Amino acid sequence: MNLHILDTHFQGMPQVTAVYLLIGPDGPVLVESGPGSTLPAILDGLSARGFRPADIKHVLLTHIHLDHAGAAGWWAQQGAQLYVHHVGAPHLIDPGKLLASATRIYGDRMATLWGDILPAPAERVTALYDGDIVEAGGLTFTALDTPGHAYHHHTYLLGDGPGGRIAFTGDAAGVCLPHIEVVDLPAPPPEFHLETWLATLERLEAAGAPTFYPTHFGPISDIHGHLAELRALMIDAVAFVAQRVEDLTGGPAGGALQQPIAPPVRSQLLDDYVAWNRERAAALRLSPTAIESYELANPLFMSVDGILRYLRKRGG
Ligand SMILES: [Zn+2]
Repeated sequence: MNLHILDTHFQGMPQVTAVYLLIGPDGPVLVESGPGSTLPAILDGLSARGFRPADIKHVLLTHIHLDHAGAAGWWAQQGAQLYVHHVGAPHLIDPGKLLASATRIYGDRMATLWGDILPAPAERVTALYDGDIVEAGGLTFTALDTPGHAYHHHTYLLGDGPGGRIAFTGDAAGVCLPHIEVVDLPAPPPEFHLETWLATLERLEAAGAPTFYPTHFGPISDIHGHLAELRALMIDAVAFVAQRVEDLTGGPAGGALQQPIAPPVRSQLLDDYVAWNRERAAALRLSPTAIESYELANPLFMSVDGILRYLRKRGG
C-alpha cells in the first residue's frame, strides 16, 4: 500500500487541509474528498500520480463538514462509492440542510470557500456503523465511532496487527499542522461536546494505531503526547470561555447562557478567545504565517460558538 498526501491548498494555503490517496492492491482509495473549491488541486495531485477521476471508486469520509466532504457529491456523481457515518449519510444525498446551516455561518463567502456542494445518488452512499468493515481497493478499513467534534464522526483504522495500523482521524484527534506541530482544538457548533470527546480520545489511544493522520494535516507519531496536549487544551478552552461568560455577565455561565447571548458580549468573548489563542501561539513562538494557517484550519469564532452552545446545554 502506498499512501500519498494530496494537499488541497485550501484558500491558497499549503498543508492545511489534506485528502489522503491510498493505492491498494486493487486500486486507489481516497480518505476525505476535500471541498469542491479545491477539486482542481486534488485532480492535479491525482493526475501527477497517474489517476483520472474515473479511477476513484471509493471515498471514505470521516464526517460531513465541508472541509472534509464538500466535494463528496461530485465524486459520487463520477461513480465513486462514498462511505460515511449513518447520521451523516442522508445529508450527502440531500445536502439542503447542510447548505442552509453552512450559509448561516459563512454567508456570501460560501462559494469562495467551498465551491459546489452536489447531491450524491443514494445508491452511491454506504452508511456505516461503529465497527463496520470497509473493503476498498484491496484494503481493509474499520470504522470507529469517534464523536465529540461532531456526533457523526468516524475514524478509519487501516490494516491489522501491531505496527500495521494507521488511523485516519479526521478532526477527532484535533488539528496539528506539519513543521509547526502545535495541537489545536476545533470545537464547532452545534455538536462539540467536551465529555464525549474526552471519551473519544481514550478510545483513539486504546485503538493502538502507531500513526494518526488527521485531515489537518499529515502524520503524527507521538500519539500519547499529542492526545495529552489536546485533552488539556480542550479542558482549558472550555474553562476559559465559561469564566469569561461569568466575568462579562456578572453571573454563573449556566444562568447567563439560558438567554440568547447579546451580540456585544459574544463579540467581546470572541476577542478574548482570539487574544488567549494568540498568547498561546506567541508562547509557542509561532510565526504569523503559522497562526494564519491554524486559523484557516480552525476558525476561532466557530470554537467560541461551539463551546457556548455546549455550555448552554450543560447548564454552565
Ligand atoms: Zn469538522
